[in-house]
This record gives sequence, C-alpha cells and structure tokens, in this order.
Amino acid sequence: MNSLKPCKICGVPKKIGRDHVWNSDGTMTQRRDRNHRMLFMDSDAIEGLFANIEKLIGMPIDKMIIESKKRATKDYISKLLRGSKGFLARLVGIERVVRKVMEQGRVMGYGDINVRIFNWKDSYVECEITNPYSIRLFSGDLKGATEAIRKVTGTVTYEEVEPGRFVIYNYVAPFAPELEERLLPHPMKRKPGDIKHELCKACDVPKDLAEFGWDIEKGIIRHQETGTRMAIFGPVGIQVIFDELENELGENIPDTIVKAQQMYTVSGVNMCWRGSSREELRRWLAVQGLGNLVSLERTSKGFSARIENPAVPAVIVGSAAGFYEAFTGKSVSADWKLSEDGDLDFEVVTVD
Ligand SMILES: [Zn+2]
Repeated sequence: MNSLKPCKICGVPKKIGRDHVWNSDGTMTQRRDRNHRMLFMDSDAIEGLFANIEKLIGMPIDKMIIESKKRATKDYISKLLRGSKGFLARLVGIERVVRKVMEQGRVMGYGDINVRIFNWKDSYVECEITNPYSIRLFSGDLKGATEAIRKVTGTVTYEEVEPGRFVIYNYVAPFAPELEERLLPHPMKRKPGDIKHELCKACDVPKDLAEFGWDIEKGIIRHQETGTRMAIFGPVGIQVIFDELENELGENIPDTIVKAQQMYTVSGVNMCWRGSSREELRRWLAVQGLGNLVSLERTSKGFSARIENPAVPAVIVGSAAGFYEAFTGKSVSADWKLSEDGDLDFEVVTVD
C-alpha cells in the first residue's frame, strides 16, 4: 500500500499526515472529522496505568476495559458505515473492512495483527496479535468493529500463546439481545488557540514526529532515542473506561487514576514529559494532542498550570505529578479540577 510508505523527508508513513491534523488549539484530530480527537501517546504507559489502577483498587478491570473500549470503537465504526457505504460493506466487504481495520492498526502502532480465521457463516473471527500496544484495548477494538459491522453483540476472549503473542477469539451471536449501553460523552466545544506547529513540508506532520521510527511489519512506533513505544488512539476510548470505573466504584476513582499514573511516571522513564522550556513543553503536549497549555506558574512548593481543551485530564495531572516527584525526589501531591467549560486547572506540590 502506497500510503504506508515513509515520507522522504521525515520518515513518517504518509498515511499519518493524510489522516490526521494537528490543530492550533492543542488537539490532534482526524483530518476528515475535526471533532474526532486522537492522541499520539506512550502506549506502555496506558498498560502501566491500568496495572497500577488494579493494584490500587485490588481487583481486575479487564472486562471494564474491553467493554468500554468496545463502545467507543463500535460507535465510531457505526458512524463510518452509515448509509449505503454500510450496506455495501455488510453485503460484500465485511472481511475487507475488518482487514482494513487491522491494516490501519499496524500504522497506528497497535502491533503485528493477522486474521487467522474469518468465518462469516458461523460469525466467528480469530486474530493473532504479536506485541499488542494493549491486548485489552485491542480486544475491545476488535469486538467493537465486528459488532458495528454485523449489528449484533458478541464475546471476546484472548489467550497468550507465547510471551508477547496472543490469539483473540471473537464470537458474534446474531440473536443475542442488544445490551443496554450508556451513551458516550459528547465532545466538548473547544477553545481556539494559537499554537503554531512546524510541519514537515512533504507530509504535514509536526517535525517532532521525525524522532520516531515506524516499523509497519511489527506494528510498532518507537522513539528512536529512548525506545519509548507510542501509539495513536482516541481519547474517548480511554475516558469511557475511566468514567465506567467511576460509575461502578465511586467518586474517588479520578484521584485513584491520577495516583496510578503518578506511580507509573515515577517508576519509568517517560520521555513524554521532556521540555526544557515552557514553549517546548507546550508544543510537545500539543503534538500528543493532550491540549493547550495556557499557563504554567511556579508556586512556593511546586507549580500550577492551566490546560485548555485537555484530553484524559487525570492522565495529564498524574504524569505532571510523577514527573515532579522524580525531579525533586520528594513526595508530591496534586490537586486538580475541571471547570464548566472544560479547562483543566491543577497544582502540584511537594509534601514534607
Ligand atoms: Zn514528512
């Protein structure tokens, strides 16, 4: 596929710039649909975050992750397949649509994905994935895609057949009753910003992306200097998991997520929070699609910040707190709130 070829100047697959745009308001979106936000983020951090949440709440959250991610993917694919396009896809091209989703996954950094069995008659899909960005998020993606295409519910299970290699079994049950599903959050109205990205002249992605290597065969994107693995995915799929956790387990969950992300950031080397100047940090946040850093002030025991159009705010706050903890070597706590219009205000302080 031609669009998977790397740009001659920056080395990023051409498809990335063709499908995505970095806006001046600190968001990254699909080029075709500027309401559909995306993130370019450390994907090991996402799995690390889930593991820490499980540690803190003392129970597995596999099912919640898969089901929530499924809802976001199903909603997205259903919208794509509306009208005659969907009818045609259902009639002749289901396998092709699924294979295209897989192909897309490789360029987004999801891992080496292959369809092993595609049994239309018995409504069964079996996939193999090596080094997934997150086996649980990917299982949710697969379930969501097949449910949207076939308009039915299904089950998904996975098994690690050797280290890093998984087989995912996805049965679709044509006569299963549709489960009642919560609505997805509405996209927030965004505030305009004045971030100017320096873009590659040939393919229109921010120049920072040239620091990353795309291995399309393996479906892996890495920061070449530090080895940090990255992936491109939508923030809604992550936020619905957090919302579902809060619905099920109570109002302390957002702070638990901040704590879990803080623990992860302290324990690992996270190059995402580099930035020797405020401008550099602001730009890097925007390249990841996390929002627009409009203020950053020192306080007596730390710093305070405001971010407009934030995505996954609990992850931003936890990362900032973890970074400051690693930097100062002291205990750190974070206080944060989201305003009515969606701005994120937070303060990170050292604790004596
Ligand atoms: Zn380029």
